[in-house]
Amino acid sequence: MSEEKRPYKTDFGPPDYRLLLHPVIKKNYGKWKYHEVIRPGVIKRVAESGDVVYIVKMGTPRLLATDTIRWIADLAEKYCDGYLRWTSRYNVEFILTDESKIDPLIKEIEEGGFVVGGTWDATHAKYGITNIVHTQGWIHCHTPATDASGIVKSVMDELIDYFKEMKLPAFCRISLACCLNMCGAVHCSDIAILGIHRLPPVVKNEKLPKICEVPSTVASCPTLAIRPDPKTKGVQVNEERCMYCGNCYTMCPAMPMADPEGDGISLWVGGKVSNARSGPAFSKLAVPFLPNTPPRWPETVGAIRKIVETYAEGANKHERLGEWIERIGWEKFFERTGIEFTDKHIDDFTLAQVTLRNTSQFRW
Ligand code: SF4
Ligand code: SF4
Repeated sequence: MSEEKRPYKTDFGPPDYRLLLHPVIKKNYGKWKYHEVIRPGVIKRVAESGDVVYIVKMGTPRLLATDTIRWIADLAEKYCDGYLRWTSRYNVEFILTDESKIDPLIKEIEEGGFVVGGTWDATHAKYGITNIVHTQGWIHCHTPATDASGIVKSVMDELIDYFKEMKLPAFCRISLACCLNMCGAVHCSDIAILGIHRLPPVVKNEKLPKICEVPSTVASCPTLAIRPDPKTKGVQVNEERCMYCGNCYTMCPAMPMADPEGDGISLWVGGKVSNARSGPAFSKLAVPFLPNTPPRWPETVGAIRKIVETYAEGANKHERLGEWIERIGWEKFFERTGIEFTDKHIDDFTLAQVTLRNTSQFRW
């Protein structure tokens, strides 16, 4: 009995990416000769067959109105036969085969209030800053210590020239996570913007037994700071043990974390994922605390601008921010950026001996 052959289809997850590739990319898959950045925001890719595609890279703020997505789709229909792709840093890459359409596309993008850029030319050591990858912030998540989209918009407005041009000596990846659980994984970024809580949760024992399970709330704490409180049938928190992670609030809404004074931002620098020149590295603390100051976040924006400018001025070609700091020493980093070195910069975690550099080469 012959079986009817049907294409495999599922509604779980995204469709197979090969079904959606641009025809020229599909035809030349794995057979590309070279690429070059012909100007900031525009990449030319040449295949072994001689086929060419042009990529026009447009930054987006990640959270987009449906009307904006329709506008982007219309641009793709008009200039790119309907083909585009989204990058993991929320840029849109329009894929064109007709070089003469590049200028009109960029004109329409700019008239729409968006910018083209975010590219780099490693051969000539000219790098643009890429878009900031970030988490949900106040708009969506329940445990943020700070906002995400608002800060990212303010920082990128300030650094927009670094996005539009390629004037950095190396990659500078900026990331934001609005709490230390970091669903955005900012810990290996050149500059990490990280929301921090500084106060333990407020325990609302009048509500807690009615809306939460005590055993699961107790079990939610990674530092064993929560124990049952038989008097109230709720829980108690040992503040000495609390590391302000907010995990209990995820489990139990009667233990809110948000606090207008206690919550804020810390900045971390010098991390990277790449293996080039030096190994991957975690970001290290630069600024322990900055207050939440919406809507334009002047303290955070100012500190990041200062770090980027000082780095751009002092780093060698291809030198990432962490490599530059290692070369000049942390003492010089604090001196040149004007960031104050405080006791908060000293790692006093129980297992700090693993990470602490306490040899004759120790520099901070
Ligand atoms: S980083 Fe934390 S607060 Fe922000 S969205 Fe992720 S889990 Fe929520
Ligand atoms: S915030 Fe984290 S460490 Fe503190 S009590 Fe809640 S779960 Fe435990």
